[in-house]
Amino acid sequence: MRLFRILLLLLPLLLGFYGLWQGIIEVPDRWNPWAPLSVQDAPNLITNWKLSRLRDNDALCRQALETSQLTYTPLPDREPQPGCSLTDSLRVSAAGEVSFNRSFTATCPLAVALSLYERHRLQPAAQEILGAQVTGITHLGSYACRNVNNRENGRRSEHASANALDIAAFTLADGRRIDVEEDWPHESDAKDSASARFLARAHDEACDFFRVTLGPDHNQAHANHFHLDMGRYSACQ
Ligand SMILES: [Zn+2]
Repeated sequence: MRLFRILLLLLPLLLGFYGLWQGIIEVPDRWNPWAPLSVQDAPNLITNWKLSRLRDNDALCRQALETSQLTYTPLPDREPQPGCSLTDSLRVSAAGEVSFNRSFTATCPLAVALSLYERHRLQPAAQEILGAQVTGITHLGSYACRNVNNRENGRRSEHASANALDIAAFTLADGRRIDVEEDWPHESDAKDSASARFLARAHDEACDFFRVTLGPDHNQAHANHFHLDMGRYSACQ
């Protein structure tokens, strides 16, 4: 009897999902879990689910990428270094008005997450806390054929497949530069500058889209950058 009651309760939910899936029930695309992700839409409860679907579906990822303001060129699959092949990757050279110190290779999901992050988190935070737009991102690289923490034995870093980006600094429209190493609010110095507050928020909100976000509080190796990746592990430190 109990099972019957549970089934009865689940029935409308299942019918709802079935209706959505089959397109019988119409909801706006941003609330439809099977509609392609649009970077333009305000993120909501299912944005991460949509992002996770891009990992093993390059065609779907390209659709999401088309809605972004990234400037990029698709790259042919290749293996620049033995054991660290690049598949379905891109060369990203700008994100809307934001330029990079140099273009970088990225997986499609990483590029989509970066675009969401720039548009819906980074720019609003910069406007609110610093009163200016972010116009530049300084990164330390995305592709590096190595293991996690450079250990000889261990699993491959997400950098080995260009599925991670290390961000070191942000430049604003008024010329200010916010540097992770210099401006990060360490507990010991109780820094409460606008730059420090911006960095703390930029770090925390990166966790909304990236699977892994590691900053200076994680360990000494991250004292000068945010590590952002779209791998299978999940961490926000
Ligand atoms: Zn990294």
